[in-house]
Amino acid sequence: MTDSTLQTPDSLHRRYNQVRDRIRQAEAHCRREPGSVQLLAVSKTRSVDEIRALAALGQRLFGENYLQEAVSKMAQLEDLNLEWHFIGRIQGNKTRRIAEHFHWVHSIASLKHATRLSEQRPAHLPPLNTCLQINTSGENAKDGYSGNELMERLAAYAVLPNIRVRGLMTIPAPAGNESARRQPFHQLRTLRDRLRTERLPLDTLSMGMSDDLEAAITEGATMVRIGAAIFGPRQY
Ligand SMILES: *Cc1c(COP(=O)(O)O)cnc(C)c1O
Repeated sequence: MTDSTLQTPDSLHRRYNQVRDRIRQAEAHCRREPGSVQLLAVSKTRSVDEIRALAALGQRLFGENYLQEAVSKMAQLEDLNLEWHFIGRIQGNKTRRIAEHFHWVHSIASLKHATRLSEQRPAHLPPLNTCLQINTSGENAKDGYSGNELMERLAAYAVLPNIRVRGLMTIPAPAGNESARRQPFHQLRTLRDRLRTERLPLDTLSMGMSDDLEAAITEGATMVRIGAAIFGPRQY
């Protein structure tokens, strides 16, 4: 029996290079500066050994969805200087540990959670970098603000002392063709352009995953969140 979660260092290296090539090509294609898009490696369900192998290839930014799993991995990888991004759904009773352990949170969709994260951010750490999540697909079941909701609340976010609002994030519904794929990313960028001010430059657009990173980069993504294309298909 073969186990598709087992991978050789070679296949990881090959996939990682492929993803980096895709990003470089997309940057070049829309005349964006090489290196203007950061790669966040999404390592949920992946082992500490896989993360270590990817870090050895030069990857520094890692995204995790589940707090318990993430904190355990961080403890085992303390010797590496990795930057950890929380991209999962936030539960109210877990904000303290998120505030204590992460450098970034991409999935903020509640002022209450953000207020707690700010209050619970340890004093010896710099402010927590955050993205506010926008529901670009209009599905009720999805987390995230509509553009109008966020416009009303942004001022309240901007004054939280230990939170730095860096930008917006979205997880669009899967789409079949290129123009449908680009639409939610275009919407996120337009919203960002409307909301940004000198005091709140919103320099980050966290958008694009394994299947749609080109569309996201074309529309201005500054950080793409890639799991399967680097590590192979996930098995739960
Ligand atoms: C899992 C996940 C990703 C990565 O998805 P892939 O399709 O594996 O690239 C990106 N963003 C979020 C919020 C995720 O939960």
